[in-house]
Amino acid sequence: MKYPVNEVFETIQGEGTHTGVPAIFVRLQGCPVGCAWCDTKQTWELLEDNRVAPELVIQVDGTIGRWAELSVQQLVSAFEDKGFTAKLVVITGGEPCLYDLSELTQYLHDHGYQTQIETSGTFDVLCHSDTWVTVSPKVNMKGGYAVLAQALNRANEIKHPIATQKHIDELDTLLEDIDLTGKTVCLQPISQKPRATELAMKTCIERNWRLSVQTHKYLNID
Ligand code: SF4
Repeated sequence: MKYPVNEVFETIQGEGTHTGVPAIFVRLQGCPVGCAWCDTKQTWELLEDNRVAPELVIQVDGTIGRWAELSVQQLVSAFEDKGFTAKLVVITGGEPCLYDLSELTQYLHDHGYQTQIETSGTFDVLCHSDTWVTVSPKVNMKGGYAVLAQALNRANEIKHPIATQKHIDELDTLLEDIDLTGKTVCLQPISQKPRATELAMKTCIERNWRLSVQTHKYLNID
């Protein structure tokens, strides 16, 4: 199977449970969810006109909606050619769960990598049983997609950006029927705003949840 890839780069995971871990990011092209504040809008459309050669996406440059189709074997060869040393592969987007990620994650695990998926939870999550799944639920977005119980149940980590109490109430409603045993719930203050950070910290302490700060924004890295 081939996957539409927007960019591949090696950096440090800046958010959630794996904060600080060196990681290879594979950003897949395509997302119909429509979050107004999305910072990767270049990944939304899968336009034939923007298709490029595989070597052009194996570097940090996701500024336009260009993409290339890569097989799992091509991806792992590219990691090796580039001399990437990270052993965690973070599959993000766009919305990576538009695609069945079973073959990709299986191949990566077979080749000594750990995997993580970052998803909005609006599509079924299909992947290796050892893949760490981070659902950052996108509720009531323009695309009109519901957050699926399948995705929330499969999640190892539920990471929610918050600014006000409304966002916490929204998360509570979403998690009403989800068994959180063994799952990590992280609150992430939106844009590092002091009031959001204060509310996130207070709620995390009350509920024994985890605070996720976007460390890459403080460090000024991708
Ligand atoms: Fe952007 Fe992610 Fe929302 Fe898609 S789900 S619009 S990629 S923030």
